[in-house]
Amino acid sequence: MVFDVHKPASYITELIYSRIVQEQLKKLGELKSPNIIYVTDLVSCTHKYHLRKKFPELTIVFEPAAVLGDLAHLGLEKILMEKGIKVEVDLVKYVQVGNEIYLVKGRADAVDESRELVIEVKTSRSSLNLPRDHHVKQLNFYLEITGFNNGIIIYITPEKIVEYEIARQPISIENEVLDLLNNKHHPRYTWECNYCPYKRICSYYSPTAREA
Ligand code: SF4
Repeated sequence: MVFDVHKPASYITELIYSRIVQEQLKKLGELKSPNIIYVTDLVSCTHKYHLRKKFPELTIVFEPAAVLGDLAHLGLEKILMEKGIKVEVDLVKYVQVGNEIYLVKGRADAVDESRELVIEVKTSRSSLNLPRDHHVKQLNFYLEITGFNNGIIIYITPEKIVEYEIARQPISIENEVLDLLNNKHHPRYTWECNYCPYKRICSYYSPTAREA
């Protein structure tokens, strides 16, 4: 019997695709909502938030690096769950700016209630500049919302598995929301434009050095 070892297949790819892309499609309506702000909006280029409200479909990705990251999250979250740690924990806070009420939403990768710790899992192609400023700020927002004083960021890269304990720093979510609505930082970091889904339609686009 001769096997055709190179016969193309897509069975598993379709399973992964349907899980990862469906998750993104489910959020499309929310992405357009003017009163929903994600914690990630508060640590990124503020212009992305304004473009996303108009062009939400441009955020949909099915790239191998992003898929690898999602799968690593799923795997580590399973291990944490087996230890009784809550995973994919939705965190919300209502913020009033002028006469408008905004819902600030985030999803912590894990919350260890017994140790009062918020845990963030990050995958990256590079081990440079860890922990990264925007990851520390993101975790700090989660600490502010939960009221916990400490969190952990764990990085999984091709060369390293390292983690950092982060202590809560004072922050005003209301002021950060105001900065976002006033489009104060575009981009917030010099490397952001290179990775941005809106770079083809953005008047502020400025290609600069990569993150690492
Ligand atoms: S291209 Fe740069 S400035 Fe424009 S939205 Fe993206 S990150 Fe912001």
